[in-house]
Amino acid sequence: MAQIIFDHVTKEYKNEVALKDISFTVDKGEFVFIVGKSGAGKSTLLNLIMKQEDVTSGQIIVEGRRLDTMDAKRVPLHRRRLGIMSPEVGLLKDRSIYDNIRLAILATGNADVRIRSKVIKVLGLVGLAGKYHAYPDELSGGEQARVLLSRALAVQPEILIADEPTANLDPDSAWDLMQLFDELNYRGMTILVASHARELVTIMKKRCITLVAGRLAVDARRSIYDQKA
Ligand code: ADP
Ligand code: ADP
Repeated sequence: MAQIIFDHVTKEYKNEVALKDISFTVDKGEFVFIVGKSGAGKSTLLNLIMKQEDVTSGQIIVEGRRLDTMDAKRVPLHRRRLGIMSPEVGLLKDRSIYDNIRLAILATGNADVRIRSKVIKVLGLVGLAGKYHAYPDELSGGEQARVLLSRALAVQPEILIADEPTANLDPDSAWDLMQLFDELNYRGMTILVASHARELVTIMKKRCITLVAGRLAVDARRSIYDQKA
């Protein structure tokens, strides 16, 4: 069975249809970009998977679990199974990189055993093992993004969800981050990335789900924005 299933999902806010009748599936190990203009519904789609929001109608199933009937008690557990990179959960500025990662690991209910080696290991995955004592403001934008990725990986997720991860990055750093995503994907992790970085998405040649005003316009290896005549 597919790892993520959207079955005729509609999401309405008070006076706004954010997503309209969206259906698609994602298999384990796929790399999928969610693309579209600002306001197209990308963040809403990811927020639904994380169960930060609930569907208005339709159904979402993640790893065999229905989200609409999921017990409130189970929601934190569900979120911990996802690696989440979102602009809404930034780094703690008054904590070192080490503490930022350590706190994320502790939040998963992991006991404090051998935590140091775990922190160094996930920082190593993004090439920042040597920077664990630094504070967020002492790092470049690209390094901060890699710390956010590292924190997302700290929970050892099956699925990585990233909302506009390259938004504030220079082209080189954005490219480096994409290479890290590619590597993780190569090792079997499912990756979902919402992005309007059109050129970067084009170069990556991955599956693209294109949203236009809340509707699924195209699901293909290219976004409709790339399909110039
Ligand atoms: P982006 O285009 O980068 O995804 P948005 O400005 O659309 O950013 O959304 C940022 C966050 O603000 C999202 O999590 C979304 O849920 C929330 N948001 C967006 N629009 C509204 C709105 N009209 N009212 C309340 N919250 C909103
Ligand atoms: P994107 O991520 O593609 O920029 P969003 O998912 O953030 O798009 O937003 C899709 C639509 O839903 C937008 O019109 C936005 O204003 C609206 N929206 C998003 N979140 C909220 C919210 N919490 N409350 C009300 N409207 C929202």
